[in-house]
Amino acid sequence: MATEKVKQTGKYGVRSGRGIRQKYILATKTNKSEYVCPNCGYKGKIKRTASGIYKCDKCKSQIAGAAYRLSSK
Ligand SMILES: [Zn+2]
Repeated sequence: MATEKVKQTGKYGVRSGRGIRQKYILATKTNKSEYVCPNCGYKGKIKRTASGIYKCDKCKSQIAGAAYRLSSK
């Protein structure tokens, strides 16, 4: 079954194409690493809310970053 094979990326369907699914896999992998908040310095409270937008659960500040990582480096 195709849905079995793609698993978590299956919701994007075939329309998204291979490229976006690869990016999504990359995003979910990199988001597992813990970021240090540049505002309060607290580690592990940064959540990616949208593409390029991250939020710190500790100080509630929004941080602009790269689309799939906090830093574009
Ligand atoms: Zn913070």
